[in-house]
Amino acid sequence: MKYNRVLLKLSGEALAGEQGFGINPVVVADVARQIKDAKDLGVEIAIVCGGGNIWRGKTGSDMGMERAAADYMGMLATVMNGMALQNALEAIGVNTRLLSAIDMKEVAEPYIRRRAVRHLEKGRIVIFGAGTGSPFFTTDTTAALRAAEMNADVILMAKNGVDGVYSADPKVDPTAKKYDHITYLDVLNEDLHIMDQTAITLCKDNGIDLCVFNMQEDGNIAKACDGASIGTIISK
Ligand code: UDP
Repeated sequence: MKYNRVLLKLSGEALAGEQGFGINPVVVADVARQIKDAKDLGVEIAIVCGGGNIWRGKTGSDMGMERAAADYMGMLATVMNGMALQNALEAIGVNTRLLSAIDMKEVAEPYIRRRAVRHLEKGRIVIFGAGTGSPFFTTDTTAALRAAEMNADVILMAKNGVDGVYSADPKVDPTAKKYDHITYLDVLNEDLHIMDQTAITLCKDNGIDLCVFNMQEDGNIAKACDGASIGTIISK
C-alpha cells in the first residue's frame, strides 16, 4: 500500500443518496462496504464526516440565526452522520470508535488525540464527529486539522460525482481541463474551490497531501488508499 494512514473526508451529501438530504441507510451501508474493502487492504483509516445533508450553519445564519448557534447545530448533524456510519461499519464486522469534539458521552467518546492514535494503531476505524468543536469552521478544516494531528499520510477527499480538480467547472466550460497533480500555491493563485481557504492553508503549511476523487465509482476508496491515480493530487 502506498499509504499507511489516511484521513477520509466524507461530505454529508455522500450519505444522503439521490434525495440529496438526510441519511439513507442503504447508501450508508454501501459506503461502509467500500470503506471495509479499503481497510482490508491493511491501511489505517480515520474519517471526518460532514453534516451538510442535515444542516449547514451558513443556511441558518443567512435566514437570520446567530451564526455560532447555527454552526453548533451543524456540528451536531455531523455526529448523527458519524453514528450512522459507525452503525453500518459495525454491522459488517469492522471495529470503530466515534470520537466527538463536543462531549456526548452517551453516544461517543470524547476526542482525545492520543486515544485516537491508539485506536488507529489497534486497527479500529476512527470516526471524528462534531467537527473541530468550534463554530465558524468547516469539516474540511476539521479534516486538515485531524490529518495533521494523526500524522496521516494523505487526506482523501471523496466527492460525489466529481472525479478531480478542473481548471473551470466542466459542466459550464467544455474546455475545462482536469489536473492530475497541482500544488497548493496553484490552488490559491487560481482560486480553485476545493476546500475553504483555512483548510487549504492548514494543509499547505503542514505539508499534507490531498487526493480529490470520485467516490461514486465503486472501489475508488480502496484505490485512493493505495495511491492509484484516480483523481487529482494536491501537494506542497
Ligand atoms: N461546523 C462548525 N465547525 C466545525 C465543523 C463544522 O461549525 O469545525 C458546522 C458548520 O455550520 C457546517 C456544518 O457544521 O456548515 C456541517 O459541516 P460542513 O458544511 O463542513 O459539512 P459538509 O459540507 O462536508 O457535508
